Amino acid sequence: MDQTELARDGGTPVRSTPLPSVMDASGRRFGDEEVKAVERVLRSGMLSATWGTEVPALEQEFAEVLGAGHAVACSSGTAALHLAVAAVDPEPGDEIITTPISDMGTIFPILMQNAVPVFADVDPITGNLDPATVAAAITPRTKAVLAVHLFGKPAPIVELRELCDQHGIVLIEDCAQAYLAPVGDTVVGRIGHIGCFSLQQTKHISAGDGGLVVTEDAALARRMRLFADKGWPRATNERNYLFLALNYRMTELVGAVTRAQLTRLAGVIADRRTAAARATAGIADLAGVTPPPDSGDHVYWQYPLILDPEVAGDLHEWATALTAEGIPANGGYLTSPLYAAPALRDRVTYGDSHFPLQDVEYPDGLCPNAEELISHRLLVLPWNENYTKTDVDDIVTAIRKVHTALSKVAG
Ligand SMILES: *Cc1c(COP(=O)(O)O)cnc(C)c1O
Repeated sequence: MDQTELARDGGTPVRSTPLPSVMDASGRRFGDEEVKAVERVLRSGMLSATWGTEVPALEQEFAEVLGAGHAVACSSGTAALHLAVAAVDPEPGDEIITTPISDMGTIFPILMQNAVPVFADVDPITGNLDPATVAAAITPRTKAVLAVHLFGKPAPIVELRELCDQHGIVLIEDCAQAYLAPVGDTVVGRIGHIGCFSLQQTKHISAGDGGLVVTEDAALARRMRLFADKGWPRATNERNYLFLALNYRMTELVGAVTRAQLTRLAGVIADRRTAAARATAGIADLAGVTPPPDSGDHVYWQYPLILDPEVAGDLHEWATALTAEGIPANGGYLTSPLYAAPALRDRVTYGDSHFPLQDVEYPDGLCPNAEELISHRLLVLPWNENYTKTDVDDIVTAIRKVHTALSKVAG
């Protein structure tokens, strides 16, 4: 039998059983502790964190794990980012600089607070914000920079903090994909003024949905806590509403499950790193394929490969071919940069006003590196803490098989 014929073309797939996946129990670590946590909360009869104990305990434990002064829990990663932007409190029309490659949950909170997302370009290998393009985008209206640690690789966050300090603006870190990724002697989320995390189904740890923010700044922490609770200063016992805000509270059920998940986080990261190191060693010699750069700092929410299309072949053919081999792969991560989504490009915001984007345009070519990554170079493989050596070896075998078939170099 011809082992080199691609499954796409009728050959035998490298793998016929599914890899562990975050979409079911095979790729999640929910054990007896999580089951007990849910039962504990239900039997207590108190499911709301306003009077409960689980969410306050989670906030303390998360702050300790991060080494942060304050942690505030909320209902999603998007909510966490909204808390952060609301704490910055931009004037309508002020600008927040961010990245075109992320989840839309990074961008919409900016618009919900009536500020304008300004997109800076990214590094052509990591897809993380390039500090030089961020610096070039700063104007007198810039209030904050919102950086994402894409796929688990830290953005150049120390440089971004220096830049923000020079301009007296706030640095927000979106750490939804990068729990505990080390930077110097600390971790992501601790370098900026505010760090934001998600507990959505696919993240390193999950309770279905949920979010957390950390900060060293007591005033920012207080504003974020109030913003998640209708501006209601509960500690004062007065029924007063101090500013426009929403209900983004985490429930006790989510808090209790997250406490159990938090004890598993270091193991999840270690196992993802071990699997990634094995994969990278297995494909390091392939021409036109750049494995994720890792100086001990990548926590592998996903495993992104950068293809040189002139050498390795067409990105979308790669994604189709790998998926047919039984190794799911996503060409580009996004359909288009976030600024090309209808909500932004067509300014579908509040009624017919287009506010606050009425004078803003997001043309093609705005961020060339991001566009090139999404269209031609960025191949994203789902990654998982439960991959075995055999699973990783199958992934390597499939990548090598597809490389042999699609690459444009001899041999
Ligand atoms: C998942 C994610 C979000 C949004 O988090 P939700 O909990 O789904 O609202 C925001 N930013 C990034 C980078 C993400 O990966």
